[in-house]
Amino acid sequence: MSPIRDLSRAINRGILIMDYFYPKYYVVGIDSFENKPDLMARVKKIIEKCEAHGAIQKTTEEAKQELKGLSAKERYDLGKQTLQIEELKRSSVHFFNNPKGAVESPKIIINHGMICPHSCQYCYWQKDLFTRSRITIYANPKKRFEADLKVAMAIWRVFSAFLRIPSSKDRLGYGLFAKFDEGLKRNGKDFSEDELNKICSGLAEKALDEWKTPQADRKALMALIENPNHSPNAVFNSGEDNDSVALEHITDVQKDILIPTILSLDKAHIMLRTKSIHYDFLEQFKDHEKKDRIIISPSLMQQEFIEKYEPGNYSLKERLKALEKVAGWGFKIFPCFSPLIYERGYGEETVKQFVKTLKEYLPPERIVYYTLGSLRLGKMALRNIRMIRPDTALDSPYFVHPKHSSGDKFRYPKIIRTKMYASFIREMNANGYDKVARYVQTETVEGWKALTTDKYKDLGLDIDKCRSGELDLEALTQTETLVHTSRVLAA
Ligand code: SF4
Repeated sequence: MSPIRDLSRAINRGILIMDYFYPKYYVVGIDSFENKPDLMARVKKIIEKCEAHGAIQKTTEEAKQELKGLSAKERYDLGKQTLQIEELKRSSVHFFNNPKGAVESPKIIINHGMICPHSCQYCYWQKDLFTRSRITIYANPKKRFEADLKVAMAIWRVFSAFLRIPSSKDRLGYGLFAKFDEGLKRNGKDFSEDELNKICSGLAEKALDEWKTPQADRKALMALIENPNHSPNAVFNSGEDNDSVALEHITDVQKDILIPTILSLDKAHIMLRTKSIHYDFLEQFKDHEKKDRIIISPSLMQQEFIEKYEPGNYSLKERLKALEKVAGWGFKIFPCFSPLIYERGYGEETVKQFVKTLKEYLPPERIVYYTLGSLRLGKMALRNIRMIRPDTALDSPYFVHPKHSSGDKFRYPKIIRTKMYASFIREMNANGYDKVARYVQTETVEGWKALTTDKYKDLGLDIDKCRSGELDLEALTQTETLVHTSRVLAA
């Protein structure tokens, strides 16, 4: 690593000890620990680790006052040096709402924090710069995460049935998940699997009544939900709201809480989405009989773009070397090539070079699935990015305003996006990744339509399998659970 990059990391990312991030400041945003000894114990442990590396405490009021008069850039930089420790009062699990006008596979997210120490210029969270800009972790104790995950498994069991029927599948979303979660927690006594499934079945019936679901669909759905053999796989993504691994050395949330809980639940899988390289905590699971339920999902892009748009982040080779090691331990690898960036001077040659480098470390047999997505930015995020870095080339002259598409984001024109996806997938295919399942993430309906015409047949993209979640489950859990479920429904 060059001394200049090293220095840039230090400036951008608080204090660095052996290349691990530690904050310069921390703020505890929890009003009371009364009757919450487990919460207090976790917070204490986190603080001890931060203070051992020089972090200084600020009160909530001090942290609020010092934001006054700061420029957007100063506010952003200070946020990346400050750790906010919170208790999440609602469930730590939620259902991902499909962005407007876009196609996405159904996702269940574990929320253990938001905003991370990396400095990706395209970060979605910059939309909230003027309301919250600090790296935030939720210090909820293990018991709370366990209860949330058990409840989420019962909800997913019903949701996966709803996904099979057109009249119910479009009803799924964040709000419905939260409603089920609330109903289960209010009525559950012992939180056993049987009890949760029974309550969930009642909630499902109620929902079907409200939606005036046609009798035939209703009958098929309830037969499936009440079938004790209906036990679908679930994949929990723990890196949608922040990086799954970047703060692990401070929180131990994956090692001590999420992974052990997931492995204790039948059919549950965990996805670690990350740009970090510190997978040492996974070594203890490398001989675990259920280790194939831990999926590493690294975000990767060309080195040229990492240098331009992820200042201070780990280089492509650093990430690939670390991944080569964990892949060797037998964990599944599911790379996320996103965002794809379009710029003059960075054409097909850079994609060729990128795939060549990828293959040196992660040959096709090491990868179970991959996804790619082109750069997309919401209005608020783009406004704030312009304020933080007025000269950034990320603010592309090619951007199309959201009003000209079915989505709600600024994107490159459809023709550019289609060409980017096609050249990337074709390069992957040419390098032997043709058998690896893939999808394009959060693409617009019209974008998917273009990609599934005869001209792009060779890309092997299947919108229905993606939208139903079947593709995710087949690729990541390597089972045919949903196909089986469809057969049960058809019977
Ligand atoms: S890793 Fe994700 S959450 Fe962290 S800065 Fe980058 S885009 Fe934002």
